[in-house]
Amino acid sequence: MSAQTNRAAWFQGGDAQCDASPEARARAFRLVLLGPPGVGKGTQAELLCQALGTCHLSTGDVFRAASCQQEPSPALKSALEAMRRGELVSDGLVVSMVQERSGCLSCCGGFLLDGFPRTVSQAEALDELLEQEGVALDAVLSYELPLGEIVDRLSGRRTCSKCKAVYHITARPPHREGVCDLCGGGLIQRDDDRPDSIRVRMQAYEESTRPLADYYSRTDRLITVAAEGTPEVILERSLKELQSRAAQVRH
Ligand code: AMP
Repeated sequence: MSAQTNRAAWFQGGDAQCDASPEARARAFRLVLLGPPGVGKGTQAELLCQALGTCHLSTGDVFRAASCQQEPSPALKSALEAMRRGELVSDGLVVSMVQERSGCLSCCGGFLLDGFPRTVSQAEALDELLEQEGVALDAVLSYELPLGEIVDRLSGRRTCSKCKAVYHITARPPHREGVCDLCGGGLIQRDDDRPDSIRVRMQAYEESTRPLADYYSRTDRLITVAAEGTPEVILERSLKELQSRAAQVRH
């Protein structure tokens, strides 16, 4: 299967249409992905969308696309400022943005939400929107990795100062140390990839998102997936968990 690549309805909101066709899909999956920075959630989102033929709905992508607008509304402007400071955008604004795109939640192709919800209040709002759309989540996949490994992964990351290509000092080293293979630019370590900053980001994640995992666990929708191994191994693990949940629901 291939991922649903036309995300016009998600990016534009309102009446924008995509080209999902009901015939193409035997089974639409409706999923949420959770996971701290450095756990490989973005890669899993892409692989899962390809494997399940579903659509990747990222709230961060909508904000990044909106940041190119010439004249953003005052609400959007303050959201983009919060984003630039590395803070979360207010629950009210994120929820109304998703609400404007609620057609994507009942799409025949299903969806994979990434970056939303991020707080319990957003999760409650999502449940209300899903109920209004007459659909339900199949599962919430939460990717977990020991803190030490997250620090190793992120602190070894190097980014090209010119073209932003991403390397890792051991897992994906450049041909020449400190030099980008693609454009010859110098490789730098992002400030927020330094071990001290990583611990602060992890603490913020634990504070805001751990209660979210508890919320989905209480309502029996949480699947915890160990994020160790190659992306393909983690994908297999995720698909197996989804299959066994589907089998439990059938019985
Ligand atoms: P992401 O690509 O998911 O890391 O999101 C990038 C940025 O967009 C975040 O750091 C927040 O500023 C903002 N953002 C995206 N999704 C949300 C959300 N669900 N709640 C609050 N802020 C969000």
